[in-house]
Amino acid sequence: MDTTVFSTVESEVRTYSRGWPTVFAQAKGAVQTSEDGTEYLDFFSGAGALNYGHNHPKLQAALVDYISSDAPVHSLDMMTPAKRDFLQTFNDLILQPRGLDYKVMFPGPTGTNTVEAALKLARKVTGRQHILSFTNAFHGMTLGALSVTGNSMKRRGAGIPLTNSSKIPYDDYLGGVTTDFLWLERVLEDSGSGVDKPAAIIVETVQGEGGVRAARAEWLKGLSELCAKHEILLIVDDVQAGCGRTGTFFSFEEVGFTPDIVCVSKSISGYGLPMALTLFRPELDVWSPGEHNGTFRGNNPAFITATATLKEFWADDSFQKGQLAEAIATVHGALEQIAGSMEGATVRGRGLLAGLHFEDIEVAGKVAAESFRNGLLVETSGPDDEVLKLMPALTTPKAELERGMGIIAAAVAEVTGTDIAYRAGNGDLAGAA
Ligand code: PMP
Repeated sequence: MDTTVFSTVESEVRTYSRGWPTVFAQAKGAVQTSEDGTEYLDFFSGAGALNYGHNHPKLQAALVDYISSDAPVHSLDMMTPAKRDFLQTFNDLILQPRGLDYKVMFPGPTGTNTVEAALKLARKVTGRQHILSFTNAFHGMTLGALSVTGNSMKRRGAGIPLTNSSKIPYDDYLGGVTTDFLWLERVLEDSGSGVDKPAAIIVETVQGEGGVRAARAEWLKGLSELCAKHEILLIVDDVQAGCGRTGTFFSFEEVGFTPDIVCVSKSISGYGLPMALTLFRPELDVWSPGEHNGTFRGNNPAFITATATLKEFWADDSFQKGQLAEAIATVHGALEQIAGSMEGATVRGRGLLAGLHFEDIEVAGKVAAESFRNGLLVETSGPDDEVLKLMPALTTPKAELERGMGIIAAAVAEVTGTDIAYRAGNGDLAGAA
């Protein structure tokens, strides 16, 4: 496999290709195959952009038909049949059944684009500048999104001060020693506090990049009540946790609150094609035409696969309650077994945004490397890469999930020298050394 051009021509900024130093030539379902024919089970799923696996046959067929029909590929925010079908289907299958009355904005096609649009809109609506976000949050790499991100290495990359935002503790940051939101309640009520009332608070219900931390439902509810009480807009960044990843289409559905603004990207196209949405209550739709724009807001092939995805998986609750629920149970059952047989290891996350935290911060990286050697793509997360982060496709067959969990169990055993008990659903002792 010739990899010379990647190290001589491509920038030093590349990362994934360093941890997984192979050339991926084929991808189908839950498996990627390198040029030399080695197969890798994919528990990474394009960082959450491939929730339905690689090249799903029905989505692929819809895409190929569209591409070969000479229909428009690129259309900014012009009207096309592909965009009409997407908006109608999204409204009919996702928004209406959930009682969500949102306007749909197409920002640029990435996660950071939808976050920028959300922050800009919140400031415009409220006339306030300040935004609050949480410790260990990750919202993207452009300056606005970076200003509400926690990671100090990424923040330093901005090269200029990141202003008009402050961090407040995420759920469990203070280990339960103070009442949730005690400080925030006090300063918002005290005109002498010196803390400016924010335009918005932006939150991930599960922090994907920040260490696979899942907020408790009651904490999220408390946050939404606090925002409503103080007329602060609540933005949920569902870029990574949305589109079914946590077990429901939106990650906040089971929590029982309605955010003012929702950021969606990654798996909304269902196929790995760039696409993003910013959703907001109709009263917040104060944009002037063209006040926020972007060349790549009309990615019609992405609209086609997005519509096909919604029809295939979200037309009723059979996928959510069937295959998806079973996949979640399989992964969490295995994680509990692995964590249960190792001192200090804990399970993190919600649904198929799942993690394994080890006391020794070196372990997760070594387990990911050992898993790669054994044919599994799994990444790490957290400020010190101290959490093994599992994001298999929601459609991964049970046997493949169990095989992957077996590879992880064996890697943990190999790296830590611990006896790991992992028994897959069929009773076989899978993988563990
Ligand atoms: N928000 C969240 C919660 C994310 O996880 C990410 C990407 N990991 C982003 C925003 C940024 O998305 P993108 O990389 O597409 O800009």
